[in-house]
Amino acid sequence: MMRPVHPSRMSLPQLEAAWTAAGDVPLPECVYDPDLHTGPRGVIEPPGDRAAREAVAREVCAACPALEVCGRYAARVRPTSGIWAGRTPTELAEHTARLSHSGTLPGDLPGLGVA
Ligand code: SF4
Repeated sequence: MMRPVHPSRMSLPQLEAAWTAAGDVPLPECVYDPDLHTGPRGVIEPPGDRAAREAVAREVCAACPALEVCGRYAARVRPTSGIWAGRTPTELAEHTARLSHSGTLPGDLPGLGVA
């Protein structure tokens, strides 16, 4: 499986293909500063810096108009790094497992196989 593309680094056509839920394509807040959600490239980030960055990224997610659809996307593509819908990959996996166990896991998005 290919490494999933974080919403902050998706092109508009990729977003349109993946996030056509309810005919709407909410613009991710993270597009304005992708490194905030994915971390700096080519740099070893000290744990304290990472924790601070992720805390801010979670705040951005909390106010993002794409939060719900992003969470569904993340549950489907199972990222291995970054902050997605306010959660780390480990938190996402735990959250998805809880929803699946309780039978409340939302359905797939129509274009998920494309992005
Ligand atoms: S919820 Fe967070 S990760 Fe998802 S699109 Fe919005 S800002 Fe980006």
